[in-house]
Amino acid sequence: MTLFQKIIDKEIPADIIFEDDLSLVFKDINPQAPVHLLIIPKKPMVKVSDASEEDKELLGHLMWVAGEVARQIGVEDTFRLVVNNGAKAGQSVFHVHIHLLSGRPFSWPPG
Ligand code: AMP
Repeated sequence: MTLFQKIIDKEIPADIIFEDDLSLVFKDINPQAPVHLLIIPKKPMVKVSDASEEDKELLGHLMWVAGEVARQIGVEDTFRLVVNNGAKAGQSVFHVHIHLLSGRPFSWPPG
């Protein structure tokens, strides 16, 4: 069981700022920007590349949640979404999550 599953099950605490029947949004414990949130599906999914066709709506929902939460906290004009897929891309928790980063300028290309 992953750490994020324990957060979904409320077995370990997190600073949850949004929740609906399909998703959960909480603050990253090691923030890389003044605003650093994690948007996760409640359904266990290891990584984006493991998603099946039936997950299309859920993945789209997570993107909608990102925009909705950004509006709610007033950062809708400037934020970055990041998904690390696989250990070599920086994924350390193997439950799909979208990083929402805001509150500072961002450079391109990313590291
Ligand atoms: P990734 O490296 O893309 O898999 O992202 C995993 C993220 O989870 C990292 O940014 C970690 O800081 C974050 N993280 C790890 N443990 C916790 C936790 N208990 N609560 C909140 N965020 C966490």
